[in-house]
Amino acid sequence: MSWQDDAGRDLVRSFGERMAMFVRGEGAYLWDDAGRRYLDFLGGIAVNSLGHAHPVFVEALARQAATLTHVSNYFATPPQLQLAATLKRLAGTGERGRVYFGNSGAEANEAAFKLARLHGRESGRPRILTLENAFHGRTMGTLALTGKPAMQEPFSPMVPGVEHIPVTIEALEAALDDTVAALVVEPIQGEAGVVELPEGYLAAARELTSAHGVLLIVDEIQTGAGRTGAWFGFQHAGITPDAITVAKGIGGGFPIGALITFGDASELFFPGSHGSTFGGNALGTAVAGAVLGEIERAGLVANAAARGAQIRDAIADIHSPLVTGCRGQGLLIGIALARPVAGAVVAAAQTHGLIVNAANPSTVRIAPPLTIGDDEIAEFVDLFQASLATATEALLLDDAADAAPAKVNA
Ligand SMILES: *Cc1c(COP(=O)(O)O)cnc(C)c1O
Repeated sequence: MSWQDDAGRDLVRSFGERMAMFVRGEGAYLWDDAGRRYLDFLGGIAVNSLGHAHPVFVEALARQAATLTHVSNYFATPPQLQLAATLKRLAGTGERGRVYFGNSGAEANEAAFKLARLHGRESGRPRILTLENAFHGRTMGTLALTGKPAMQEPFSPMVPGVEHIPVTIEALEAALDDTVAALVVEPIQGEAGVVELPEGYLAAARELTSAHGVLLIVDEIQTGAGRTGAWFGFQHAGITPDAITVAKGIGGGFPIGALITFGDASELFFPGSHGSTFGGNALGTAVAGAVLGEIERAGLVANAAARGAQIRDAIADIHSPLVTGCRGQGLLIGIALARPVAGAVVAAAQTHGLIVNAANPSTVRIAPPLTIGDDEIAEFVDLFQASLATATEALLLDDAADAAPAKVNA
């Protein structure tokens, strides 16, 4: 029996077929079950901030596992309090910030949803706004926030009260009034294909939401932890939100998520109103604390900005008719293709030993570790160019096959 057979028989069918079987990782590299090495420029979808098996990650995990892992939220632990203070400092909440810990992005956004409901309940506001094409998670609450009707349809009815509006400042202006509890936005729509907000959107959203007493909640699950060249994506816009959600990159591969509230929004949860058994456990918070500590110590936020610019320049120099440009910021990059063939490029990349993914049919997403340098970038450019060539060749063959179906039938 192959691993493909095992996976096909035993794993839930909600995911597509697994593309490879990985057994080991180190830095920006992965090895499969046949011992083949791959350059990992997906980073587990913006999760592996420090790459694989970083000594700081490994040491923090092992040390905390041997010290104290879990005691429940009846009790505090030093790593939990330290991480809460660190997140408040990095997000810039000032004194009046609070942190709720969960174990994933969806849990962080569920907490944000409940925060919005509490605000709405206090002030008679039933509506919550999110953006078309937004992705906020797969649980029933966060699926309601997610602006993708095809994802929602099999699971309807949705949790009520959520409206998806077009991604323009005019649409926001038209939709906002005193019946809205919260606006939830991603600084860059990662799952939609690394799509940036229109120029000035977050600043306008802050102004408009403030004017109407509406909470501005920024989903930083993909953009946080230094990924875009700032600790959090909203910081590029110079605004102060009411809450942000984080997950993916803050744990560097350990599952953890959090809701961070600012100012008055920090007073909405009351005792008994929310909770999680595993949320904020000593093990996860120790690892996330170590990961954020290493990002800070090694200057990896600045590295994300610089390496992102370097990759963008290198991609601009690739003269392939398939590549039309780049979107995104820092080390969250969507490489835009002239045709909806991202799947073919991703498959070709894998044959060349490069891991990337198709964020949408015409966008290849890269979210490499924040630790990458000149060598990994040079290797990426070589492998990506080879992948484009292979995909182009394969597509021409496909075109030829498409053009001659009669022959095949005859
Ligand atoms: C990945 C992601 C989520 C969901 O996080 P999970 O950990 O998969 O539940 C939510 N919002 C954004 C913007 C994401 O990228």
